[in-house]
Amino acid sequence: MNIDTSEVYDISMPITQDMPVFKGKEEKRPLITTQSTFATGSTYESVIKMNMHTGSHIDSKLHMIEGGPTVESLNIKELLTKCRVIDLSECTSSIGKKDLVDKNIQSGSFILLKTKNSTEDILEKEFIYLDRSGASYLVEKNIAGVGTDGLGIERNQSDHKTHILLMNKGIHILEGLRLANIKEGEYFLSALPILIPGVEASPIRAVLIGLK
Ligand SMILES: [Zn+2]
Repeated sequence: MNIDTSEVYDISMPITQDMPVFKGKEEKRPLITTQSTFATGSTYESVIKMNMHTGSHIDSKLHMIEGGPTVESLNIKELLTKCRVIDLSECTSSIGKKDLVDKNIQSGSFILLKTKNSTEDILEKEFIYLDRSGASYLVEKNIAGVGTDGLGIERNQSDHKTHILLMNKGIHILEGLRLANIKEGEYFLSALPILIPGVEASPIRAVLIGLK
């Protein structure tokens, strides 16, 4: 297979100390330090301390379901897949069933929801999220995975219904994607987690490749 490199798109969020984080919580900001420099040693080495849900990442069930499976149980073959970017730039506040019914969502598909989160400065507070009716609809449609350009797939839902509805059906959840430069349409997605056994989420380097 030949990859047209002009059709490779990085949809990951850069990890920096001043990046947007969920609700602007200080404890979610990454701490990046230097352990060794050429002034102090013979190599340059860095250390990062970061919440697993900061930046572009994938959740596993343990995040919301006590005793649930952790990152190493994720099937990476399902995270190398065709996907479809759906433009929901018209949405304000939340994405519900009403916003998705006309989008011809197919069983088994992996969809990425592009919203104003990618283009406006709303990530830390009022980001657009998937509401319960939207999550129920995606479950009904039997999708394989969903990605959001919000810092969470939901924002203020204390019962975490959006996560739980999706997770109970084994639907993959990617959060913190950057889709500003991505047109609606079909792509190949690579969204592999770092292999950290026992944890409930992992950063991903998410990439789209245009399909010919
Ligand atoms: Zn998360």
